[in-house]
Amino acid sequence: MPIDVPRYLHLDLSKHVMSNISRFRLRAHTLKVEAAAWHEDGSCVCDQCPGEDEHIQNEVHALLICQDHRVCELRKHFSFLFSPFFEDFSAAQPFLLQQVNNQLVHDFLSQQNNRLFLFSF
Ligand SMILES: [Zn+2]
Repeated sequence: MPIDVPRYLHLDLSKHVMSNISRFRLRAHTLKVEAAAWHEDGSCVCDQCPGEDEHIQNEVHALLICQDHRVCELRKHFSFLFSPFFEDFSAAQPFLLQQVNNQLVHDFLSQQNNRLFLFSF
């Protein structure tokens, strides 16, 4: 079975971006879901979302759902990456209100636009 080398490894990205992409892919990041796995009393609830709704802070949450104003501003700046995949996404609502299926997340992360890596990482 041939091994598919991830596309980002063929791009001219900075070491910092490469490192961050690799850490994200390997779940070697600092999102709450990972921190909670290592700390007995850790919480995996996002501490960046405003409001009282509790969301698990995992990779999909950080990419698409988190309502932190800084992340929302970044999504608005890179809205052209989201609009083709998520009908609900808009400048007025730069986040999704519910989980999406894994195939759609995969398709989003597999898009051929190299600027995806500048948004994500
Ligand atoms: Zn959040």
